[in-house]
Amino acid sequence: MYALPEKLIDSLNKLDHFDERAFREVHASGHQVISIRFNPAKIPAGASDFSRLFSGTSFRMQDRVPWAGQGYYLSGRPSFTLDPLFHAGVYYVQEASGMFLEQALRNTVDLSKPVKVLDLCAAPGGKSTLIQSLISKDSLLVSNEVIRTRVTILHQQMDKWGLFNGLISNNDPKDFRQLPGFFDVLVVDAPCSGSGLFRRGPEAIGEWSEEAVKLCRQRQQRILGDAAGCLKKNGTLIYSTCSYSPEENEMVVDDLIRQYGFEPLRIPLNKSWGIIETFSEKTNAYGYRFYPDKLSGEGFFLAALRKKEGKEESRKIKGKVESLNKKEETLLRNFLPDEELRFIRVEEWTHALHENLLPDFLLLKNYLYLKKAGVMAGRAVAGEWLPDHELALCTGLNPQIPELELSRSDALKYLRREELTLVEQEKGWRAVSYRHQKLGWVK
Ligand code: SAM
Repeated sequence: MYALPEKLIDSLNKLDHFDERAFREVHASGHQVISIRFNPAKIPAGASDFSRLFSGTSFRMQDRVPWAGQGYYLSGRPSFTLDPLFHAGVYYVQEASGMFLEQALRNTVDLSKPVKVLDLCAAPGGKSTLIQSLISKDSLLVSNEVIRTRVTILHQQMDKWGLFNGLISNNDPKDFRQLPGFFDVLVVDAPCSGSGLFRRGPEAIGEWSEEAVKLCRQRQQRILGDAAGCLKKNGTLIYSTCSYSPEENEMVVDDLIRQYGFEPLRIPLNKSWGIIETFSEKTNAYGYRFYPDKLSGEGFFLAALRKKEGKEESRKIKGKVESLNKKEETLLRNFLPDEELRFIRVEEWTHALHENLLPDFLLLKNYLYLKKAGVMAGRAVAGEWLPDHELALCTGLNPQIPELELSRSDALKYLRREELTLVEQEKGWRAVSYRHQKLGWVK
């Protein structure tokens, strides 16, 4: 049992919809909501297939997360690290409220057209994987993370998701000032005081203070001030936090509207979802609040805004990509036959990305510290293609590449890099799989 900060409760009591008793009870209950979101590119066929994938395991899927097409609640918390399908990128373990980003995007952006999206605060990759599942394959997603050590986890997560339309960058928000009017969509899932996750990790309670809320608000304003300019006129900004404090939510939205020329966008809600629509004090802007006593999810806030003005600079694209030679191209095409993919060499490594993204890649590499483009495919060595681990996990792998299907225990041994005794089969690379979901390579 732990005590919620009374100063937080006092500030929330000023909000009409806040129910102090229910809020205290749900925090005292110790109840944990576990939810996952499937990767539609890995299992496109629908829910019945998901269940079949988990048959014979301790995985129990319950209801759908009502505001997310691929989101499900689980009964209990299985050990995800002991599930090979987790490592194969078949699903992402994501807090249910955050999946509401899907509604925000579907209702404010025309996702049938190619769009350029920046996920500015992207690690560990929950929102980025969701965005990538929603945009078209010729759209662009730049997943950015400023903290270098957190880029690694973002990278790993995006590798598992296995799509070809993403770039990963490691930049400070101020670097995006160099790209005025470039993006159609800007997602800022901002660092915050974290009160919405108290139920998950009560230790966060000890770190909460009014001073921390104030500092977070200043940081959020700085991040938004730096990044707002990189959004096109009529572009969509989606701002979210996992804090309950109005200072980090509605008040930040008020600043955006008054300082940077945004207008609020409304997101249609189904009453049964239990999400609270709020109106900011100064500009009456819409906001969406999630309370754990009103729905199955943690504390969360989201607002969507349209940029009313903005300038787009015409930019000369400098440089060109280094392509593979004919022999190398043939070797890699054997792994990735999709003709819409282009192979580019960056230093000794080859990346595969959707052809429409080449101009964006060429432009952005002049401004951003890019950590990867599309899928890392590997490199040619002594007349052979040496595939990168990521190539096995990607969604465009040639189905003709021989597969080595493993039992669960062998798959876990493989993932732990323990020795496996395999029956000698034909020579060459084989994609190691569990339930036909790829985990890596063996030769
Ligand atoms: N969007 C992520 C997801 O859904 O998995 C979660 C993002 S988390 C709430 C906020 C992120 O902002 C963290 O990865 C953190 O490292 C990053 N961050 C911290 N300080 C920042 C700053 N000054 N500017 C931009 N990002 C920052």
